[in-house]
Amino acid sequence: MNVRRLISTGAVAGATALSLVTLSACAGASGAAGRHGGGKLDVVASFYPMQYLAEQIGGEHVAVTTLTKPGVEPHDLELKPRQASALRQADYVLYLKGVQPAVDDAIAQAGVEHTVDAGTLTELEAHGTAVGGDHDHAHGDDEHGGGQDPHVWLDPVKYAEIARGVGKSLEKADPAHSAEYTKNTDALVAKLNTLNTRFTDGLKHTGTRTFITTHAAFGYLAERYGLEQQGIAGLDPESEPSPARIRELQSVAKQDKVTTVFFETLASDRTARTLAGDTGLKTDVLDPLEGITDRSKGDDYIGVMESNLAALRKALGAQ
Ligand SMILES: [Zn+2]
Repeated sequence: MNVRRLISTGAVAGATALSLVTLSACAGASGAAGRHGGGKLDVVASFYPMQYLAEQIGGEHVAVTTLTKPGVEPHDLELKPRQASALRQADYVLYLKGVQPAVDDAIAQAGVEHTVDAGTLTELEAHGTAVGGDHDHAHGDDEHGGGQDPHVWLDPVKYAEIARGVGKSLEKADPAHSAEYTKNTDALVAKLNTLNTRFTDGLKHTGTRTFITTHAAFGYLAERYGLEQQGIAGLDPESEPSPARIRELQSVAKQDKVTTVFFETLASDRTARTLAGDTGLKTDVLDPLEGITDRSKGDDYIGVMESNLAALRKALGAQ
């Protein structure tokens, strides 16, 4: 770990010989201590679903900072110079390519040795968000070419696959604590398996399989549990639907006995309310977990996902 720190500091920050000596002395005196003290691996996570993995799996051996502040809509995030510099000095970077284009660029430029794209730890898919019309995946198109849907964390099974990959990569980055990373990974995967069982059982028998949502982030979740997501305006939470799309949704709502239009916590609910008002539907929150705040319906990933399950059960008429 000490050697790696010295190499990465030298290469990336262009540190002087003097600072290398200082660091060396520091590291020698405190064993495996990192630059930022406490002997922890400095982990930078791009946004909440990555932060949660790093914290759960890294446990007490990592110090996690997140590039996306709580309550900030992550897709259009631009990094501050201070964040870019913290990024360059990280020991380990965890992100999901395709969610935040500006962050993707900054991470590529930072060139940290242990940089992990969570999208490479599972299989990403392209999801049609709706029937007909122009419903491309607004984020991800440039990066993935094939218009792959990056919202993979909303499927507990794929998120567990990613968790296993993150565990392995942390073991590689910090072999001294590999036993703990393995143990923490197993514990998190067990929690995600339980969550998956609850979704499977909870959504087995419902009055309808269709739900309408502003931000079409739930393609993986819908596919996992045999539901159909109708996105109001594709993957961009702020974009306006066309009048044709609204008419289409009105007829889908009637045909599939939809009860509820979902909106999310971090974006405007105006479109959802307009559509719901026009069609006599209720509105409720379905949280894509791109950030977590005091207003989130749960303290963490598992808590918010359980609220999402309750909201889906209610909207779909689950028994
Ligand atoms: Zn999104």
